[in-house]
Amino acid sequence: MKQQMVAELRQIVGSSYVMDGLEDRICYSFDATFRDFPPDVVVKPGSVGEVAAIVKLANRYQVPVTARGAATGLSGGAVPVKGGISLVLTRLNKIIEIDTANRLAIVETGVITEDLVTAVNQAGLFFPPDPASAKTSTIGGNVAECAGGPRGVKYGITRDYVLGMEVVLPDGSVVELGNKFDSEMAGPDWGMLLVGSEGTLGIVTKVYLKLIDKPNAKQTLLAIFSSLDDAAQTVSDMIASGTIPTTLEIMDNLTIRAVEEFLKVGLPVTAEAILLIEVDGSMASIGKQAEHVMRVCKKCGATAIQAASTPEDIDKLWRARKAISPACGKINPTKISEDATVPRSQIPAMVRRLREIAKKYDLKMVIFGHAGDGNLHPNILSNKHNQEEMARVEQAVEELFQAALDLGGTLSGEHGIGYMKAPFLKWETGEIGFAVGKKLKDTVDQQGILNPGKMFDL
Ligand SMILES: Cc1cc2nc3c(=O)[nH]c(=O)nc-3n(C[C@H](O)[C@H](O)[C@H](O)COP(=O)(O)OP(=O)(O)OC[C@H]3O[C@@H](n4cnc5c(N)ncnc54)[C@H](O)[C@@H]3O)c2cc1C
Repeated sequence: MKQQMVAELRQIVGSSYVMDGLEDRICYSFDATFRDFPPDVVVKPGSVGEVAAIVKLANRYQVPVTARGAATGLSGGAVPVKGGISLVLTRLNKIIEIDTANRLAIVETGVITEDLVTAVNQAGLFFPPDPASAKTSTIGGNVAECAGGPRGVKYGITRDYVLGMEVVLPDGSVVELGNKFDSEMAGPDWGMLLVGSEGTLGIVTKVYLKLIDKPNAKQTLLAIFSSLDDAAQTVSDMIASGTIPTTLEIMDNLTIRAVEEFLKVGLPVTAEAILLIEVDGSMASIGKQAEHVMRVCKKCGATAIQAASTPEDIDKLWRARKAISPACGKINPTKISEDATVPRSQIPAMVRRLREIAKKYDLKMVIFGHAGDGNLHPNILSNKHNQEEMARVEQAVEELFQAALDLGGTLSGEHGIGYMKAPFLKWETGEIGFAVGKKLKDTVDQQGILNPGKMFDL
């Protein structure tokens, strides 16, 4: 049956876009998490028509289809845990239109995030969602995970910019959900169901994205702390004070040292924590915002505050932030990256809980993330081949999820559920919420074709 199916897939997309050799299947068996499940076949469609034909064929053969963008996912969404077809969407990579008059971008979902951000910038507008993986991740992956990023604290996350989309449904039919304009709304916002659905409800092939005005000016600041608690309290006090910075990123000492070792950009390696803070807006407002930020930092115990005055200095700080993942990867080979998120007022309490958990299970944990959003990224640096250590990691992760929920937070601020957090989803949704999610999945995807083994499909 497999041979017949592969032959039919070749007819749909052409032989060079179908791969079923072992090496290729292994290459598409993993994402940025740490487990691998090879698909039976890898297919790279070049149009919505081809995507629809593949999904119809998968229904006929009763074979799972797992959508894949750039596979930078941190919850295992693109990993085909039940085999079947790995549907790689990177050939759908056209920026179809940037409509400046209507402040709208129409893009295929295989477009790289940074390519879109750059094109929008060149057209004189602004697309704020900026995951740290933007150089690699795709817009489809961003929509399917509802990606956030450093700018989320002021500008919101991917869902705040999705107006509508073209979707291939689990039976292979094609539908437009939502629309191109902010002000139109005929019926419920069905498109929002697809945002964050991790390829379990439909394959998104095109999106209509809202664009906004570019801020005229920005100021980047680095606040240095001799206590992680003080830095965490600053985040909470900053938000409560009414000035919302564009970004409010935290890095603890282990993170700072890892990045400095990796990049050598002059980070303060003796600091217990730093906050990377940016404010933006009109020229007239920038100075006042920066002064306010500095006041709050000083009041909370910052030992020094540096203002980046040249584009090179700003670039250096952001390169440091974006290098955290590879830098930490140098410390230990397996990086368990979590994004349990809490209300911003609970950041200091969450930081304390995280340190207790790391100590209790004797694990190396770095703490960084979009703290201004309540979104901390505790990363446990371990080695997946050390079974005893991995058992401790598992217990620590469970405790970390529980801590976030106890503090009124969520299992995931932006990385999604995938296979990694699926066993814990019920802790957050409760029995009834989980049953509703499962019923929705079963109703939309009656054959259970799309991305089985994830989210509500256990
Ligand atoms: C170094 C690093 C930094 C990161 N920083 C951030 C960050 O700051 N913020 C953040 O939110 N995330 C971050 N991430 C996580 C990841 O980059 C995001 O989740 C991103 O949105 C995934 O995009 P992708 O194209 O790689 O998707 P993939 O990993 O390929 O897929 C992710 C999920 O989306 C589904 N999917 C992909 N395309 C489609 C489609 N067209 N239609 C339907 N479903 C689809 C897949 O089935 C899967 O479930 C980071 C990851 C790394 C490795």
